[in-house]
Amino acid sequence: LSRDLESQRDKPCQTLDGHRLPLWVNTGLMVDVVRSLEQGAEGVGLYRTEVPFLLRDRFPSEEEQRQIYREQLQAFAPKPVTMRTLDIGGDKALPYFPIEEDNPFLGWRGIRVTLDHPEIFLAQVRAMLKANAGLGNLRIMLPMVSNISELEEALSLIQRSHDEIRQEGLDGELPPIGVMVEVPSAVYQARALARRVDFLSVGSNDLTQYLLAVDRNNSRVADLYHSFHPAVLQALYAVARAGHSEGKSVGICGELAGDPLGAVLLLGMGYNMLSMNATSLHKVKKAVRNVTLVETREVLDEVMLMEDAGQVVLRLERLMAERG
Ligand code: PEP
Ligand code: MG
Repeated sequence: LSRDLESQRDKPCQTLDGHRLPLWVNTGLMVDVVRSLEQGAEGVGLYRTEVPFLLRDRFPSEEEQRQIYREQLQAFAPKPVTMRTLDIGGDKALPYFPIEEDNPFLGWRGIRVTLDHPEIFLAQVRAMLKANAGLGNLRIMLPMVSNISELEEALSLIQRSHDEIRQEGLDGELPPIGVMVEVPSAVYQARALARRVDFLSVGSNDLTQYLLAVDRNNSRVADLYHSFHPAVLQALYAVARAGHSEGKSVGICGELAGDPLGAVLLLGMGYNMLSMNATSLHKVKKAVRNVTLVETREVLDEVMLMEDAGQVVLRLERLMAERG
């Protein structure tokens, strides 16, 4: 670590006018945990549970999962850890659970798979709830929700797991539950989603892909994948307003949160938390500590009138340059 970055670590992430913006991390492996703690993460905004599933040659049992999740929760306790239920399909295939489709990103992915296989979902949620016993820092998050009915089905399975666990003698409150907003339909239904859960978290990687119809992994169209595309910004802003109008916390866990230009824009939109790779924490904190909330809102108002991503980036770069 450079000295500059090291000195940043213990400072709060807050703007020049005193607005706090918690920075959380995305994790998957235990090494991410160590790095995140070293760098002062305030919580985990996305623990990708598919990572331990990808490292095996069969589905981990409920007990194996409990141990893996316990390690994550324990490492961060009492800081919150947001565990996302299995998000396979799309570009993430388990070798022991092949999914072959012509359009995997529009196919059987995330919550669609686990609602069709409730035994996978139930075992996972039970393992999470058991791992949380005596700690209480678990949050559960649902990926790829595109219909209210999927959310309701998932919520009732979570409730069922919780009831079962209690009958088995383990107590503990139902943890906060959130939904990822990462497909366009969820943007339009963000209020209805927010009403049913404790928090929203935008998956900007997928949301950008689906809004712009650009495969996030296809290098041939990579120059069309614009995180600052005005349509993406409209969606991000709409989700923040929708969540807040229902009194819910709204965060983001896509790559945009780890981009200092994105972070200051999200700050202006009122995002309550940004979750990113541990390696981005310092540069984002530095950017946030360099601006006022008031000026990010002013720049946001300007940027929301712009018609192309290039202009938006230039305006944000100018803000950062003015601040040195
Ligand atoms: C996202 O889509 O932005 C996200 C955080 O999830 P993943 O990258 O795992 O799809
Ligand atoms: Mg995603």
